Amino acid sequence: MDKLSVHQFGCRSDNFGLLLRDPVANLCASIDTPDGETIWRELQSKGWQLTHIFNTHHHYDHVPGNEMLKERTQCTIVGAKNDAARIPGIDILLEDGDIYEFGANNITMLETPGHTLGSVCYFVEPDKILFTGDTLFSMGCGRLFEGSADLMWQSMQKIRALPDETQIYCGHEYTLSNAAFALQVEPDNPALQRRVNDVKALLCAHKDTLPVSLGTEKATNPFLRADCPELQRYFGLQGSAPLDVFTATRALKDKF
Ligand SMILES: [Zn+2]
Repeated sequence: MDKLSVHQFGCRSDNFGLLLRDPVANLCASIDTPDGETIWRELQSKGWQLTHIFNTHHHYDHVPGNEMLKERTQCTIVGAKNDAARIPGIDILLEDGDIYEFGANNITMLETPGHTLGSVCYFVEPDKILFTGDTLFSMGCGRLFEGSADLMWQSMQKIRALPDETQIYCGHEYTLSNAAFALQVEPDNPALQRRVNDVKALLCAHKDTLPVSLGTEKATNPFLRADCPELQRYFGLQGSAPLDVFTATRALKDKF
């Protein structure tokens, strides 16, 4: 049976374009709009009609195609109530835990502040797909432009509570540089070493390094591992609160 699928493609220099397609209900959603013309061309080449935009946050490289695509398609724009003033053309305002019915699939909005105060993720059930925007990257997390480390660590824990088989799609292809940092702080992590080898092979074959399972991220992403003893040792913070380790990890990555 035709089922929900995600079409991923490059946008701008390192953004991902993402189209979530439900062939049964004939729905198609763009997750953010990093480049309206590129997204429009992908829609034309697939023969898909855009029905929705789900915005993860207000940054200039995540919303610039909103108004142009809405004008051409009359699509519905969904975003965070918290950030309604900064999401161009927003129609549907969601709060933490709200469920949006996308055909027969439920999409739960999770507030995950930190990168910006209005940053959110979208969890698609029953397929267990998570769109994380710039909150979580493979082996990395977003910079703290507006939120505190405390808020971001709470957001990391919210994501970490989802099932391991969840497939993560994020806003940018930053994986290789994130991998170099992850290896610096956790050089002896065998799961991390395996993931880095896989990532290099994917990039050599000109393939994307996303999606990735949340289980792999839990085993390799230092920003999800602030309570792991090896990271505590690296920062000389044995016995410290995970928030201290997370804060130190984020601060070091800012200078990396
Ligand atoms: Zn951003």
